[in-house]
Order: sequence, then C-alpha cells, then structure tokens
Amino acid sequence: MFNEDTIAAIATSSLGGSISIIRVSGENAVSSVDDIVSFGSGKKLSDMETHRISYGFIRDKDGTLIDEVIILLMRGPSSYTREDVVEIQCHGGSMCARQILSLLCSGGKVRIAEPGEFTKRAFLNGRIDLSQAEAVMDVIESKSNYSLKSAVSQLHGKVKEKIINLRKIVLDDISYIEAALDDPEHFSLDEFDAKFEVRLKEYRDELQKIIDNFNNGRLIKEGINTVIVGKPNVGKSSFMNSILGAERAIVTDIPGTTRDVIREDVVIGNILLHLIDTAGIHDTDNRVEMIGIEKAKEHLTIADLCILILDGSRCLDDEDVKLINNTSNMTRIILINKNDLETKIDLDKIKSITDDDIVEISAKSGNGIEEFENIIKEKFDLNVLSFNDEIYLSNQRQLTHIEKAKESIENVMVSMENMLGEDFYTIDLMDAYTSLGYVIGESVDDDLIDNIFKKFCIGK
Ligand code: GDP
Repeated sequence: MFNEDTIAAIATSSLGGSISIIRVSGENAVSSVDDIVSFGSGKKLSDMETHRISYGFIRDKDGTLIDEVIILLMRGPSSYTREDVVEIQCHGGSMCARQILSLLCSGGKVRIAEPGEFTKRAFLNGRIDLSQAEAVMDVIESKSNYSLKSAVSQLHGKVKEKIINLRKIVLDDISYIEAALDDPEHFSLDEFDAKFEVRLKEYRDELQKIIDNFNNGRLIKEGINTVIVGKPNVGKSSFMNSILGAERAIVTDIPGTTRDVIREDVVIGNILLHLIDTAGIHDTDNRVEMIGIEKAKEHLTIADLCILILDGSRCLDDEDVKLINNTSNMTRIILINKNDLETKIDLDKIKSITDDDIVEISAKSGNGIEEFENIIKEKFDLNVLSFNDEIYLSNQRQLTHIEKAKESIENVMVSMENMLGEDFYTIDLMDAYTSLGYVIGESVDDDLIDNIFKKFCIGK
C-alpha cells in the first residue's frame, strides 16, 4: 500500500437526495468509525465480518444523537481502493453528512480526501489501470447512453486489454532482435525481417484504427457540435424549438431576431447534439447583426455537423446558393423548411449543386422532423457501433500517446526501407512500447498522476 493516511469524504452529490454516503478508506478506517458509532448489539465494527451491513447510531461529543446510520464494511483488498473501506449511509441533506465527517476527522486518525483520491488509491494499489481510472470519471460525467456504454467498456478494461496485447508483441519483437544481435548463431534474423514487416503494418493499422475511433469516441462522449445556419427568417429558431419540443429560441417574423447564438442540447435516439442556433447569415450593413454573423461563421469552423435551412416557400436566391457553397465542405444536412406552404424553391437546382441529404420539413407542423432524426442516426452510425469489438480512448492524453506509438512504428518501417539495420529498429520499438505504457499508466510520473486525479470529484 502506497499511503498510510486514512481518508474520508462525502461521496454523494451535494445537491441533495434522501441519503448521503461518507466513504472512509485506509488503515484507520474501521477504528475511526468505531470511535463515533455505537451498535445496538454492543459489538464493535472491528469485530464484525467483512462485507456486512450494520445498523448503528452516531452521537456527537456531548452524546446528542446526530443520526441513525447504515454501515458497510469492506475490508481490503476486496474493496474499491484495496484498503479497508467503510461507508456510512446517513440521512440526506448536507448537514448530517458534514457533521459526521467533521466528527470523524476530529479524532485525528482521518483526513479529508482530495478530489479523486479514492480512485487514485485504486490505481496506485493496482486494482485498476490508468485508462480504467479515467473511465470512472467518464462514467460519472456521462450525458448520453452511448457515452456511458463506452466509458463502462473502458472501465472493464477494454483499452487496457488491447494495449497490453500490443505491448506484449512489440516486446517480443524487441527481445528477439536483441537476442539475435547478441547471439547470431542461435537466433537468425534472415527470415525474421519479412514477417516483422507484415507485423509492423498490422501494429500501425491497429493504432490508426484506435486513432480514427477517437473521433467517434469524442462524438459519443462529448456530443455532436451542430450549427444551424440559414438566412434570417427561414425558420432556424422554429426548427430548434420543434426538435426541443419547447419554445426556447425566440421566434418572430422580424428578420435577424437571433442576434447572438442560442445553445441547447438534444438527444436524438442515443445521440447527443449540441445545437447552436446562429444569427442568420446574410449580407448586412447593420453592425450588431454583423457581429452575430461573424460569430455564426466562427461556430461553423468548429462544428461537426451543419444544418443548413432554406425557406421552401421562397425562390432560391444568390444568398442561398452562396450559403450552400460556403458550407459544402462540412458534414451537412439541408432542410427545406415551410413545406406546409406552397413550394417555390427550385429543388432540382439544389440537387444539381450538392449530393448532401435534403429533407423537406415544416418546423411549424413538425412534418419531416422524424425523417431528419433518422438521417442523424444513420449519418453518425452510432446505433451500430459495437462496444465489443472497438476500443474508444476517452481523452486527448491517451490519444497523444497512441499517436506517438504509431509514429515510432512508422519510424521502424522507414528504417527497414532504408536498410538501416536491426539495432535501429529496437530504439523506435522501445519508444512505441513506452508510449503505449503511458496510455495505461505504466511509467507515468507522479505529477501526471496527481494532475489526472485532481480532475475527479471529491469522494470518488
Ligand atoms: P429564423 O430567423 O430563421 O430563426 O426564423 P424563425 O424561426 O424566427 O421564423 C421566422 C418566421 O417563419 C416566423 O414567423 C415563423 O412562425 C415562420 N415559420 C417558421 N417555420 C415555419 C414553417 O414550417 N411553416 C410556416 N408556415 N411558417 C414558419
């Protein structure tokens, strides 16, 4: 065990709820709880069997009852941190839990835990690897079903498994090359190179796949940044309201009402969209509107998806065509709104300019919205993502190391092409091995570990 301190924190949300949980972990966990709890049976927690639940009372120093509580005892190593863990369930509301925590710490055997310290201990005591520890945070922060699924898959060690396998075969190659260089009589490199070259390509492709998946993973985890664009008055705000099912954006028939951006989140199927309703993009001399239009253009540059809305009840004009052309390099869905009115827009002309999905809708009646939602599901294909086969990195830190590992593998490929000799291969292979180790927290330094765990909430 790396740490002798016993730590405690309120593990449940401070926003309220019918119960609160105080979690205690470390050498003094059992004795410190014994100091403040009495059980009806007269027994002590230290006499009780592990993984049992007991009912007790906590009184303050002058004997006044603070609360009746449920105590869960989980002796290490069969606990979250692998240390002795005691969880105290008391009544909800922050006062009760805070009083108990303060009483617990007043004995001097326990200190308040830092954010993420329980999970940090689980990592340092070898119960989980770093990618799993990061997944704990992802699970807590998940905002959609997919996000939760991917985090849970990582929590169960998918990334760890893959990386450990890759590292093992890379290490086997390093070992063989080193052995052959040291002992050429018994280890031949003659046939090795051809097979090694094939393997290198496989490593590279595997790593590339993980990198490609990262973007999907990001969309799963963070949601799809979706910008709604179109000229003023085409029905952008109405469309947004229609998929949100509430009057959130301001709808008026005065062009240019949405001067600044309006943001809302919506979940379609299992996909989280971060909608940004922008000011209508069009040519204007109005300075306030110009600021909004500039902002809209800025949002376009970072969006994952553009929803371009055109007014179907009006003829296609130059500004519409300009908007179609200016957003043509984005992942895009074109909505032809107001199909409850007579269609005046030239659909054939639009189809001749772009192959993108075009859906006729009426933001007013809701007609066509379902078709739009089906296209979103198809486009992002998240319904068919399998969490059994694919692994998803959860953050940029992991991605950076995977990219470095891939770069090192490519360096080996270049060395082979240039026939630089086997001793050159092992240097880059070792770098790849180290970078992969960083993903799962092997060979990471203390500062990095502290940094990662600081991002956790207290009590986790
Ligand atoms: P924005 O400026 O693009 O955000 O447009 P708004 O959503 O504010 O709508 C402008 C006007 O068009 C309002 O009077 C809406 O009621 C009207 N409108 C929006 N969508 C539809 C629709 O599908 N059918 C009809 N008939 N009118 C619509």
